[in-house]
Amino acid sequence: MQVIRADHAGFCFGVQRAVELARSATKDSDRVATLGELIHNPEILEELNARGVRTIAAISKIHDGVIVIRAHGISQKKLTAIKKKKIKIIDASCPFVKKIHAEVAKLSVQKIPVVILGRRGHPEMRAVVEDFPGVEVVQKIALKRLQKFAGQQIGVLAQTTESPENFEKLLTALDQVGAKIISQNTICGATLDRQKAASKLARKVDAVVVVGGKKSNNTKKLFELANKIKPTFWIENESEIQKKDFVKFNKVGVTAGASTPEKTIERVCRTLKKL
Ligand code: SF4
Repeated sequence: MQVIRADHAGFCFGVQRAVELARSATKDSDRVATLGELIHNPEILEELNARGVRTIAAISKIHDGVIVIRAHGISQKKLTAIKKKKIKIIDASCPFVKKIHAEVAKLSVQKIPVVILGRRGHPEMRAVVEDFPGVEVVQKIALKRLQKFAGQQIGVLAQTTESPENFEKLLTALDQVGAKIISQNTICGATLDRQKAASKLARKVDAVVVVGGKKSNNTKKLFELANKIKPTFWIENESEIQKKDFVKFNKVGVTAGASTPEKTIERVCRTLKKL
């Protein structure tokens, strides 16, 4: 089978940096932990765990050693609580995620309500809402729900991993209800590159394989985009490839979320080529 890779796929700058910071932390301490999963990729989490990096669920479980703040960022509230413990903090929050926190803070000082296109339960959005509970995270764009912003000035942002099409839809919907919009497109460049490359790839092949963690929002967006164009399969690794799914295809495209390591993408490509 012919296998074509997307022009942009796999690890982004923010994930690469977070993983490297966590790896290097283990050289200096055997008490390294992350509050929540560092990134949404099971294979990398297993590797870090083997190096001694623990994933902990609550600040109350941290007593000593080093804490690595994950790529999805953290609320000031939680950061302040960690600082009180006098633990060494390594901040691996992606700068693009921090930009969203800074923009929300600016708008809040001006008492401008904020709407963010994103997934409410996602750690990136949870961290923002912990500091700014009034922020409205919009997952589904429904005019009825946005009516309350009629005539109001509002700040509109997007989770870093959203799609530009959905962001445009949200802006259009808010415009329709008569909101006065101050918008900042905070979708990160790595997300945009991967999304554009996934759509371009899908047009060239018979089917697409998207490789990435099932909790990864940017991987989910790649799947949704490609699936609109060609039959698409979302897998975490090569063990999920089923020969019967691919018998009718000659040319398969492979793309991967921003938290998928190169070695997984290569194994998936090798497995597909042998079908
Ligand atoms: S996807 Fe974008 S925001 Fe998220 S870690 Fe990568 S570069 Fe940062």
